[in-house]
Amino acid sequence: MDFLLNCAPFSAKMALIVQKYGGTSVGSLDRMRNVAARLKRTRDEGNQVVAVVSAMSGVTDGLLKMAHELTPTPSERELDVLVSTGEQQSIALVAIALESIGVEAASITGRQAGIFTTGSHTRGRILDIDPTLMNQLLAEDKTLVVAGFQGVTPSGMIHTLGRGGSDLTAIAIASAIKADVCQILTDVDGVYTCDPRIVPNARKLPEISYDEMLEMASSGSKVMQSRSVEFAKKYGVIFEVRSSLNNNPGTLVLEEHPAMENVVIRGISIERSQARVTVIGIPDAPGMSGRILGALADAEINLDMIISNIASDGFARHSFTMHSNDLGKAQAALKPVLAELGSGAKVETESGIAKLSAVGIGMRSHSGVAATMFKALGDAGINIGMISTSEIKIAVTVDERHIEEAARAVHDAFKLDQEPVA
Ligand code: ADP
Ligand code: ASP
Ligand code: MG
Repeated sequence: MDFLLNCAPFSAKMALIVQKYGGTSVGSLDRMRNVAARLKRTRDEGNQVVAVVSAMSGVTDGLLKMAHELTPTPSERELDVLVSTGEQQSIALVAIALESIGVEAASITGRQAGIFTTGSHTRGRILDIDPTLMNQLLAEDKTLVVAGFQGVTPSGMIHTLGRGGSDLTAIAIASAIKADVCQILTDVDGVYTCDPRIVPNARKLPEISYDEMLEMASSGSKVMQSRSVEFAKKYGVIFEVRSSLNNNPGTLVLEEHPAMENVVIRGISIERSQARVTVIGIPDAPGMSGRILGALADAEINLDMIISNIASDGFARHSFTMHSNDLGKAQAALKPVLAELGSGAKVETESGIAKLSAVGIGMRSHSGVAATMFKALGDAGINIGMISTSEIKIAVTVDERHIEEAARAVHDAFKLDQEPVA
């Protein structure tokens, strides 16, 4: 495997550039014409380009909906075959749009791009990329249009890479073909201090570290798929998030440098549709937590916050958060465990909650962050449910109905709309 490359963040002449265009950016024929025109311009400036494209916006959701209308439990193997067609439509249409303006193009699927995956259906992981065909087509001076979000197992099964997975395709290809520049072109012109649809005075960040981007992505900022950021960090792929609709400078995502620590909070993320499960009346004895968590893990439930304490009655209680879609599955998985824990054990649940996370590497060296955040929420009359922290993140749950107000209150409290003072 040869992913060890550094994509330079500048737009040099004769550079090899990977540009990823997301679902909204290819969401109509006009948008595809716009993408083709941008690719042509990049070529005319003397560069070689590999475009990675997503399905047109709404197509992946529409295909999934059809499958679930046939049965509530479609097989993941067939879901992969189905949803990978969305990207396949886009690559052909973008290549046709390129040819119509005189650019020699070639569309290629994940398999043709040599993207080999491992792991499970619907969440495949990239194992390796064999860039032979891509290199051959580039040597023929073609503009490549590669299907995002898909790969094949070594035995030829189609895998998709998790929702938002075209970001991962672009970053992994940039690494494999040793691109000079990797750009994620989307419907916002960079990574903001919070989703600008929720906080209108959010500020575009000139740069953000991999770790901060990763924490923001994995706590709800869907501007980047979190696994793609993990990959970029691992293989040192510097990339830029920018708009497909204007030429504004975007946000560079790269390894942290010392000046970044001066900013305490880089950004705020929100995640809706969360649920809490609390198991109460757990005997305070070794092995209990393992039994409970084991049952949830066997049911393939992704837990987010995990909090446990001993109640005044001497019994332990464990609380977990998860996506609300998993609530029924969690209750079913815990049923047999409750019987083993004894007659005092029971499960309480709460849905309709959301998570607010404040992220910044500056938290490592500044104190008082939690106090500022909790005061802002208190002043706004918003009740905090669970709290969890990591070295660079503080997350709280609140009633989902108040999440946007909570984001704005915390954004204001940290003055994130203003340039940080150096
Ligand atoms: P694409 O289809 O191009 O992959 P996405 O819809 O996945 O685009 O991601 C872009 C969206 O991410 C934006 O429209 C914006 O609403 C949302 N978003 C969430 N958090 C942020 C943030 N911190 N900065 C910028 N955009 C954000
Ligand atoms: N089309 C896929 C999705 O909607 C992948 C992507 O857009 O990145 O999740
Ligand atoms: Mg996306």
